[in-house]
Amino acid sequence: MDPVKEQKCAACGGPLRFDPETGKLVCDYCGSVFEIGAQAAAQEQDSTLEGYDFAALSAHAASTSAEGLPIYNCVSCGAEVIAPPQEMALTCPYCGNNIVLTEKASGNLRPDGLIPFRITAKELPGLMKEFYKGKKLLPKNFFSESRMEKVTGVYLPFWVFSGRISGNLKFHGEHSSSRRSGDYIVTETENYLVGRDVSMNFRDLPVDASGRVADELTDSLEPFRMEDEKPFDMQYLAGFTADRFDMARDDVAERARDRMNNSATALARSQVSSEYSSVRSLGGKLKADLSARYLLFPVYLFQLAHGKNNYSFAVNGQTGKVVGSVPTDKKVSWQYFLIRAGIGLAAVLLLCFVLYLMGR
Ligand SMILES: [Zn+2]
Ligand SMILES: [Zn+2]
Repeated sequence: MDPVKEQKCAACGGPLRFDPETGKLVCDYCGSVFEIGAQAAAQEQDSTLEGYDFAALSAHAASTSAEGLPIYNCVSCGAEVIAPPQEMALTCPYCGNNIVLTEKASGNLRPDGLIPFRITAKELPGLMKEFYKGKKLLPKNFFSESRMEKVTGVYLPFWVFSGRISGNLKFHGEHSSSRRSGDYIVTETENYLVGRDVSMNFRDLPVDASGRVADELTDSLEPFRMEDEKPFDMQYLAGFTADRFDMARDDVAERARDRMNNSATALARSQVSSEYSSVRSLGGKLKADLSARYLLFPVYLFQLAHGKNNYSFAVNGQTGKVVGSVPTDKKVSWQYFLIRAGIGLAAVLLLCFVLYLMGR
């Protein structure tokens, strides 16, 4: 297979990109629109079908840069493009063509599926405005004075686990009851060793498979709605960046198992708690029977530059959920404190005055 594949419009040769609004491939040069999957069907017949141009695809052996990074040749302009090892889709910085590095998206590395972008980059300013609404401690005009920089739409890799956790958990349960006997209160405590069989099914628990973005950030971007999942097709990547996983399934399975074990233990504990006055967990054995799918989820990453500072943000490319830090204006938060302190003081004075009137 060619190491490089570009997404090109056959009508005019312009770059194709996946359009989140319509869910189709569009050419911004001539306005042509193509259905996802049409090209894949054409490819099997190995012909230059109407609408798509395969003749332009030619293999270029990848060489290596001084830093040991692989170099790819852009099929359109011939420029040498250095790609970080985890990147599998990118835009040629010279001619703007959208390139998929097929060797990183095939064989074992081929994702099982993805959730396509639904949010367009144009919607980001509006989402940010909404995000900042009601945040009182924000510096004045913060948003209007900031610039959005380094906006990238990137498909991030996730391992999505499903399966069953089962086993037996042990708890120490206590029953106590009190009764009066003459001048004494007698408390009786009964102790029980409680065993609980646990069996819980889990579906679609995502675990971040990329070292590029912090786990806390990707966790906050959840949930992704799995009903939008599509079988993997390189055409969804056109116009976006995509990372392949750099943490293997087994590297992150522990994290998935821990999350499932905790849920199963919490559920069993709450069931036992309803029957005893106090409950202590004694551990136990849980067996996990898990399978994982390799999926790509859509995320926008960008920075807000304000004065000398940069603030990092991420937006869920499916739901529009915004995650990021909000700067606080020290002056504004001081004013806010004074106003609240002032209201408190006024209330105290009013109360004193009322008490004074009542005392007269
Ligand atoms: Zn075109
Ligand atoms: Zn190029």
